[in-house]
Amino acid sequence: MPRYADIVLPLAQPAYTFAVPEGMAVREGQAVAVQFGPRKFYTGIVWRLHDRRPDFPRIKSIQRILYDSPLLSAAQRSLWEWIASYYLCSVGEVMRVALPRLMKPSGDTEEEFSEEEFRPRTECYVSLARELWDETTFHETCERLERRAPKQYEALLEIAAAGDGERIATDEIARRLLRADYGVLRTLERKGLIVATEHERTVEYGGPAFRLPELTPHQRRALDALREQFAAGKSTALLQGITGSGKTEIYIHLIAETLSRGGDVLLLVPEIALTAQLIERMERIFGSRVTAYHSKLTNRRRTETYLRLSRSSGGEFVVGVRSSIFLPLKHLQLVVVDEEHDASYKQTDPAPRYNARDCAVVLARLTGGRTLLGSATPSLETWSNAATGKYGRAELTERYGAARLPAVYVSDTLRAARRGERHAHFNKLLLDKIGETLDRGEQVMLFQNRRGFSPYVECAECGWTARCPNCNVTLTYHKSGRKLVCHYCGHTEDVPAKCPSCRVTDVVPMGFGTEKIEEEIAAIFPEARVARLDRDSVTSESAFNAIIADFAAHRTDILVGTQMITKGFDFAGVSLVGILNADNLLNNPDFRAAERAFQLMMQVAGRAGRRDDGGEVVIQTGDPGNPVIRQVAAGDYEGMVRMQLADRQAFFYPPYARLTSLTLRHRDPTTLRNGILALATSLRTRFGRRVLGPMTPPVDRIRGEYLAGLLLKIESGASSARARELLLSELKRFSENPAWKAITVVVDVDPQ
Ligand code: ADP
Ligand code: ZN
Ligand code: ZN
Repeated sequence: MPRYADIVLPLAQPAYTFAVPEGMAVREGQAVAVQFGPRKFYTGIVWRLHDRRPDFPRIKSIQRILYDSPLLSAAQRSLWEWIASYYLCSVGEVMRVALPRLMKPSGDTEEEFSEEEFRPRTECYVSLARELWDETTFHETCERLERRAPKQYEALLEIAAAGDGERIATDEIARRLLRADYGVLRTLERKGLIVATEHERTVEYGGPAFRLPELTPHQRRALDALREQFAAGKSTALLQGITGSGKTEIYIHLIAETLSRGGDVLLLVPEIALTAQLIERMERIFGSRVTAYHSKLTNRRRTETYLRLSRSSGGEFVVGVRSSIFLPLKHLQLVVVDEEHDASYKQTDPAPRYNARDCAVVLARLTGGRTLLGSATPSLETWSNAATGKYGRAELTERYGAARLPAVYVSDTLRAARRGERHAHFNKLLLDKIGETLDRGEQVMLFQNRRGFSPYVECAECGWTARCPNCNVTLTYHKSGRKLVCHYCGHTEDVPAKCPSCRVTDVVPMGFGTEKIEEEIAAIFPEARVARLDRDSVTSESAFNAIIADFAAHRTDILVGTQMITKGFDFAGVSLVGILNADNLLNNPDFRAAERAFQLMMQVAGRAGRRDDGGEVVIQTGDPGNPVIRQVAAGDYEGMVRMQLADRQAFFYPPYARLTSLTLRHRDPTTLRNGILALATSLRTRFGRRVLGPMTPPVDRIRGEYLAGLLLKIESGASSARARELLLSELKRFSENPAWKAITVVVDVDPQ
């Protein structure tokens, strides 16, 4: 019996050693309650059992075991460790995101801890008593009851018929699913004819028969290629296929194969609200086998899901957002990452700052499974991995069925303005096409990237703009309620009646967001029904669903929106897509700006005419000669990749280098400045010219703290383990220096 346990607590601390009380049979991966610090109770995960007594005087004991079976498999523990070491954080920080909140109660007293503890919902199940499993006995009993107690007779028949109908059902069935009275059931139980037990709710599966779509010859070739590459030992493959080519159909085939072998499948999707349609589509094929896992679920539901999966014997299919890589799928054989290029797979705050796509690749390797990365416009990193043969690869180059690619028009905003062909934020070409589309009874989507150009207020007299008192940014104007809001810290204030600087009353909204576009388009086409989809209009999941349902049912004609409208929708009636301002996508000060702009515009364009005879796309830009705009218009992904890779190589960015960004924060700008200079100097002794900075980030003050950054670029071939080791030791030295103790250091590996 091991006497000590290293236990991971949900803290930014290393594992801590506790004593295992005499007679407590605890296993690695199990959750336990422990007391840590003066008097705080935490949930911990038993990481390692051993007999080495730690050299501190008072060793506390484990209080008790929390769930009977381990919450983590060995593969999952390896994944947590990999994340902690790769993303430079503690395993405890991984625990914070990996387990649902209810599974890690903590409290200042034992009572507080227990109060928070999760208790599974139970319900009553009944089954026939064993002796009635025999046909003859069953029929004799029925005959006896039929006349004397018809209700009991009916109840018995109902329970016996709950199975496949051929034989007498011996499985248990939830009492609430029966028509029989509870009183009648109690009588049967008293007579010993049925057995009733109260236990945790189990999930009933639908039938195992999946109705799979017939693949086109083209799709079949891609599926066969993937199968072959997986069989030949490639653990990761890229499925590159234009929008509407049937990537999802191929996922479905691979998923069905895996499930029928008894393997678990994880399908990762960027953001769940946006992929409601995908879940529905999966449910149409896999029925109740589909388990959705996302942030909109209640804490209880997530916990139930986690526990159920931790006891499952395989054949599970989870569709979920990035945190689902932490679910306890013990028989994981396939991970599909849809839209693998999507930035939302990366968690930016708080630690662990992990990329779920990259973790999926590691996870599948740990479980001996396979990873399929799907995209119309793969990230350059993934594309390079496929090009060098590190990943397998298959392609789909044509849309399914009669659907053609949309015709793309590039519309010059400056030229339109010179010719007097610009009204509000629309060029005449776009307005003409909107008019024609509405006349044909078809639908329009208008895309405005709000992030790059938020509406703000400005004094028409002196140029004063409203700024956040805590952050170095302008406040964003929200028309509904006439409020000014800081998108970094949430600070909110009213629009001033008078300019605080010059006292003139003319404070006016500037810039244009989706709200403005919605207002303008409604004024130009008063008979059209216009709706808006963005973070402000979507106040809840039901609001989101209502907007989508209205558009899908053609109760609205024009949908104005941000990134939200670009993902995962398949609206048959949309034949025109307008991109209002491509320039603010391109003019981002980020080395990925061109790649992202291309991906986003292709995705938006893909919404046009998905089913019908090819739709139309109008891109408004002040820079029609921009190569990225031309590549989008031509659908030239390879051209974009070649051009961007040349840039990345010349300036030494991913995939040619691995980046780690360091952001330092402190209230006093001088301390911060001196601190970051000291850190930069010490890092340069180790990494030389691979250290860039210090630099001032675009927003250099948030919530009253000043920010400064350093960037570390390590060549792709070099040992990243060695680099992490050196970086960690320098960071440790830095944070132990009393002069810099109060400076917060945030490390982001592979920043997006
Ligand atoms: P992608 O995921 O590449 O965007 P989808 O798998 O969503 O493409 O396919 C686009 C549309 O074409 C969907 O409505 C899908 O149902 C249909 N489709 C694609 N392949 C087939 C097929 N083999 N049989 C029937 N419908 C198909
Ligand atoms: Zn602020
Ligand atoms: Zn003023």
